[in-house]
Amino acid sequence: MRDRWLADGTHVRFGVLANAWKETVRDAMADIAANLAAAKVEVRRAITRRTNDPAERKRMFNALAVDRWAEDPFLARQMRKHWKRGRNRTHDQIVVRADQHNTATGGRGRLWLAVPGLQRRQMVRIPLSTTVAPAGTLRLILHGGRVEVHYQIDASQMRSSQRPCGGRTVGVDKGYTEALTDSDGARHGCGLGELLSSESDRLKERNRRRAKLRSIANSAAGRGDHAKAHRITANNLGTVKRERQAARHRARVRTEIFTAVHRVVDKAATVVAEDLTKTFAGRTTLGKNVNRRLAAWTKGVTAEALTNVSERRGSALVHVNAAYTSQACHRCGRLGPRNGDRLHCTPCGVVWQADVNAAINILQRAGDPDIALHTPHHVVRQILQDRTDRHRTRLPVQDSSPATAERRANYPNRSAMSK
Ligand SMILES: [Zn+2]
Repeated sequence: MRDRWLADGTHVRFGVLANAWKETVRDAMADIAANLAAAKVEVRRAITRRTNDPAERKRMFNALAVDRWAEDPFLARQMRKHWKRGRNRTHDQIVVRADQHNTATGGRGRLWLAVPGLQRRQMVRIPLSTTVAPAGTLRLILHGGRVEVHYQIDASQMRSSQRPCGGRTVGVDKGYTEALTDSDGARHGCGLGELLSSESDRLKERNRRRAKLRSIANSAAGRGDHAKAHRITANNLGTVKRERQAARHRARVRTEIFTAVHRVVDKAATVVAEDLTKTFAGRTTLGKNVNRRLAAWTKGVTAEALTNVSERRGSALVHVNAAYTSQACHRCGRLGPRNGDRLHCTPCGVVWQADVNAAINILQRAGDPDIALHTPHHVVRQILQDRTDRHRTRLPVQDSSPATAERRANYPNRSAMSK
């Protein structure tokens, strides 16, 4: 399409420079392709719901794969429903190739970025808020009256990537008031709880005010006072400031979490953690619940930070099954009542810090012969109970070879244990 439009002169009608136009066409086509692919995922689901006949399913999957869905009424209807057309992310951004821009230092050490404007050989100069010159292909996005300069960096060149990792194996638990607690009892990213709760309070209050303003605007429109309704929508219900504040908050949380992970990797060659990505498979919609939204999002950032930092600094990340790690005593394995940030173990006569106890449990899971990453919850519970039962009856473990130990854990002889 791009070559055809270049050949027949269509591109001139857009009134922008050829290079920027080409990159934008590429962006737009990529958007269309992505939307098409996303729609097909939904339609495949619809096909499985519609029929159980393998031949019919195969026929429809095939038609979808080779883009002949328009001929089938059901598929055409489904595609029309799920293919979101007309949504374009390229309306507020352009791509500038590496050889098209340059940076210069102006007065008072300020960095200026120069990119081609609409007039030939006349550069548009943009003051940057950083002292690091962007390099490579740039994407300039107009966002809330500002220009965002996006570009790729080589992570191995970052200063934090040069920091060596530690030499130990450390378990970590994702906390509520701090980003991570490790198995040594140290807490990292202690500002996270405060950041999240203040943001949550702020959002709740602001959403309440916005709802009130929106209802005033709606009732004004209902009375026919459209000028007032418009004034409120334009002046009080905008999103520019909101987005800017949200972006700033996101950046703060990310810094807190990444710093926490760096602290752990400072002493660890192997980090043992719960797999924080897997719970996203359900894709539950959280609606308006601010707290849960924030919690779900931070979990994703923690997962990203663990993977990213481990990769860059050369430590290993081991995912373990975290079932019951927050409820079991790490010394005797018994499930105890958790009381806020405390875990009581009556047999041991100890009150543990719940998150430190969990981090130690997570560390121990890495070497657990019976509990694998995908062992189901109820099986984990059974294994833990069998172990403590064995303790209670002081039954000696007669054969401790791994094979029989595993079999015993899987098929415990309960009558022998209860004697
Ligand atoms: Zn105990």
